[in-house]
Amino acid sequence: MTMPTADGFFGTYGGQFVPEPIKDILNELAEAFERYRNDPDFIKEYEYYQKQFTGRPNPLYFCANLTSRCGGAKIYLKREDLNHLGAHKVNNTIGQILLAKRMGKKKIIAETGAGQHGVATAATAALMGMECTIHMGAVDVERQKLNVFRMQMMGARVVPAESGQKTLKEAVDEALMSWVQDAQNTYYLLGSAVGPHPYPLMVREFQSIVGREAKAQILEAEGRLPDYCIACVGGGSNAMGLFSEFIPHKEVRLVGVEPAGRGLGYGEHAATLCLGEPGVMHGFNSYMLKDETGEPAEVYSISAGLDYPSVGPEHAHLKDLGRAEYVHASDKEALDAFFLLSRTEGIIPALESSHALAHALRIAPTLSADTIIIVNLSGRGDKDVDQIERMVESGEIVPPVL
Ligand SMILES: *Cc1c(COP(=O)(O)O)cnc(C)c1O
Repeated sequence: MTMPTADGFFGTYGGQFVPEPIKDILNELAEAFERYRNDPDFIKEYEYYQKQFTGRPNPLYFCANLTSRCGGAKIYLKREDLNHLGAHKVNNTIGQILLAKRMGKKKIIAETGAGQHGVATAATAALMGMECTIHMGAVDVERQKLNVFRMQMMGARVVPAESGQKTLKEAVDEALMSWVQDAQNTYYLLGSAVGPHPYPLMVREFQSIVGREAKAQILEAEGRLPDYCIACVGGGSNAMGLFSEFIPHKEVRLVGVEPAGRGLGYGEHAATLCLGEPGVMHGFNSYMLKDETGEPAEVYSISAGLDYPSVGPEHAHLKDLGRAEYVHASDKEALDAFFLLSRTEGIIPALESSHALAHALRIAPTLSADTIIIVNLSGRGDKDVDQIERMVESGEIVPPVL
């Protein structure tokens, strides 16, 4: 049920909507992935770095304070925030960089929006002694200076994309162009469960360690599977990472939480699965938010990691099948969850993860005390503290009295 067709379709979603020369290099990549994904030496090396570099397994933490405060369901957090580099993204960059090495590639290229994927890529490229170039919109380079410095410190070259809107879309275009120019030596390391086949499958597989650990941990803690698994959805990689292990267990409800931003009007949110329609962009078919001409819509979220007008194709498929549900949480709800977790548990969550938590806080009080919820805490909030401080200073937000 969770394997795409040979040409990369999950139901009608996914595929490879790219020019022929790119198809050839994607198929070379798909073949390499199939060759190594079950190779014992490859798996051993992947697990070695997950343990020794990332610091896995990370805990499944029971939020006793938050649970008693909400009343109702038990809330557990899968602590991806405790990984080296502070988020789930490293799970994927380790897997892909080991694949790149096996394929004999010398150079890594990646694109990044907020910079989190760029940082994880730069770190794993440094670890493997590979040359690394990160394409980033010129506007994002300005907005995310600290992440740019982090990438440079680890030896990456950061190339600002100066065309168009100078954000993520242009960075993707430029990264793709430089990939095609030297595909022989270059590996394109994609950061979420999006893009043309085989990326959605590959990224899910490298992230599925999250769900495998969570399942073993909840069985040990509670002796049974959870009732809910909840994760935020930008491109959808941390959610697929948690969900995939639980998909065969029909009794586990899988809930993806999208950003409702400032509201559900055009340009105010990035709730793609909730409000979008099928469409092709960046080389794959999925749900998509469109403007009136059918082009990718403007999107917005308080969290830079969630504002993407498409979404991973497997999520689109799970939605149509009814196997997963997709809801949204606003900036305000995410901020409330951000402050509440910080205050009650001493854990500052990433603003992205705060969206998932917001939905858990919404439903927990309506559920019985023996209900179990797992929230994927995809990242830590240190990166967001500056932004929130500025918003508090300017009076744009008022921290809730807790
Ligand atoms: C990038 C990021 C996300 C969004 O990406 P997905 O592919 O949807 O997981 C979520 N949380 C954090 C902390 C991130 O850095």
